[in-house]
Amino acid sequence: MSNDRKQATEMTEIREGDILFDCPYCGKNMAIESAGSGLMVPCANCGRAVQVPIPDAGTPEAPVAAVPRPAAGGEEDPQAVIRQLDAALSMANEQIDRLAAEKEALQERRSFLEQVRSSNAERLDRIAAELASVQDALDRAVALLAEARSEKPV
Ligand SMILES: [Zn+2]
Repeated sequence: MSNDRKQATEMTEIREGDILFDCPYCGKNMAIESAGSGLMVPCANCGRAVQVPIPDAGTPEAPVAAVPRPAAGGEEDPQAVIRQLDAALSMANEQIDRLAAEKEALQERRSFLEQVRSSNAERLDRIAAELASVQDALDRAVALLAEARSEKPV
C-alpha cells in the first residue's frame, strides 16, 4: 500500500478488524483500527471530534470507509497531517486528563472506604475487649456461685 500513494481517491486500505463508522457531523466514512474503539478522533473531513464506536454497540458495518488520516483534497499535505495529529494528540490528552480525574476520584472513594472499614475494625476490637472483660466477670461470678454452693454457710 506504499507504492501508489492515494491521489485520486481518499479511500485507504481497510484491514480486517477495523471499525467502520460515519462522522455524525459531515457523514464522512471512516475506518480505524479496533484499538481506537471508544476514543475521540478528529474527523478527516470536518475535523470535529468524533467518538469511535465500540463494537457490539450494534452498528452494522458500513460498506466503504476511509481512514481519517489523509486530508480531504487528494495530495497528502504534511501541514494537514500535522494538524490532524495535533488534534488527535490534544484529544488524547483530554481523555488522559479525564481518566486521571476519574482515577483520582476512585482513589479518594477507596481511601474513604478504607477509613470507614478501619474505624469499624477499631470498634469491633473495642467490642471484643468489652466482651472479654464481661466474660471474665461472668467467670468470676460463676466461680463464686460454685463456691457458695459447695461450702457451708458462713
Ligand atoms: Zn466530519
